[in-house]
Amino acid sequence: MQSFIEINNVSKTYGNYKALNNISIKVPRQSIYGLLGPNGAGKTTLIRMLNQITAPDEGEIIFDGEKLNRNHISHIGYLPEERGLYKTMKVGEQAIYLAQLKGVSYKDAEKRLKQWFKKFDILSWWDRKVEELSKGMQQKIQFIVTVIHNPKLLIFDEPFSGFDPINVNLLKKEILELRDKGATIIFSTHNMASVEELCDNIMLINKGQKVLEGSVYQIKQDFKDNKFEIKLRIEEQSNSQIFKFSDSQVLPEGFNIESEKTDNNGELELIVSADKDINPNILINYLSEKGTIVSYRELLPSMNDIFINQVNSL
Ligand code: ADP
Repeated sequence: MQSFIEINNVSKTYGNYKALNNISIKVPRQSIYGLLGPNGAGKTTLIRMLNQITAPDEGEIIFDGEKLNRNHISHIGYLPEERGLYKTMKVGEQAIYLAQLKGVSYKDAEKRLKQWFKKFDILSWWDRKVEELSKGMQQKIQFIVTVIHNPKLLIFDEPFSGFDPINVNLLKKEILELRDKGATIIFSTHNMASVEELCDNIMLINKGQKVLEGSVYQIKQDFKDNKFEIKLRIEEQSNSQIFKFSDSQVLPEGFNIESEKTDNNGELELIVSADKDINPNILINYLSEKGTIVSYRELLPSMNDIFINQVNSL
C-alpha cells in the first residue's frame, strides 16, 4: 500500500548545527506513527516541516502521493505542544471561530462541536469563559478544534501532557477511533506507555539522526533477549515445604533458570533464559511433565527499555 506520508532524505541546518540529518521515513495510510527521541532530537523540526512552518534544506516530503504544498494545509490538523486559547472569550464561541478558520461552516461547526463537547463531558461549559476552565478542560477543547475539520493527517505534539490518567485514556480511545475512521496520525511523545498502546510504527531519532525505525512489534522482536516466564503448579509438594526447582531439576540443554520464586498460592514462577533460535516448546514439554503449567509468556523488552538503551549507547 502506498504510504500516506513519505519523508525522503530530509536535512535541516541551523547555523552550523544539523538539526535533521538525511532523515527518511514512510508513514502508512491510516496508521499511528510515533516520533520518539530525547529533547533536542529534531522531532519538532520535522513536525514544523510537515506543517510548512519551515522548509527542508534538502530532501522532499510527499503527502498522499503529491509533493507537499499549500493545498495540503487544510487536510492537516496540528496540536502543538505549546498551546493557548484566548482567555476572555467564551468557550463555544471560540471553538466555532477556530473551526471556521479551518473552513468549517458556522452551522457544521456548532453541530460537530456540540457532539464532541458532549462526548468529552464539557457541554455545560459552552457559555463560560476560557479562563474559568481547568487546564485539562482547555486541553480537551484544543484537541477537539484540532480534529474538527476531519483532517486526513493529524499531528499531535505531546498530546497527553497536562491530562490526568482518566482523560489520557479518553484521549487514547479517541485517537484510535480517528485512525479507524481513516486518519493518518503522527505524534511525538516521551510517554513510552502510550507508544506501546497506540503506535503501529515508530522512528527513534537522536541529535538529528535516525536511530531506529519500524513496527513496534518488530522492534520488540529485534531487541528481545529470549526470556520466558512460566508459572507451574507442582501438586505433590506439601505446603510447608519450600520447593526449589533449580536445586533438583536440570533444564533441557539451551535453557537456564534466571530466577525462581514460590508465590502465596504455592505456584512456582520461573524466569528462564534460552539460547537464540531454540524452540521454547522443548521447555514447555519438559516442564509439563513436572507439574501443571498455569501460565507462560515470552518477556519482551518495553519500548522504554529500548529507548534508554539505544539513546545511551550513542
Ligand atoms: P525536539 O523537538 O526533538 O526536542 P527540535 O526539533 O525542537 O527538537 O530541535 C532540534 C535542534 O535544533 C535543537 O538543538 C534546537 O536547539 C535546534 N533548533 C530548532 N529550531 C531552531 C531554530 N529556529 N533556530 C536555531 N536552532 C533551532
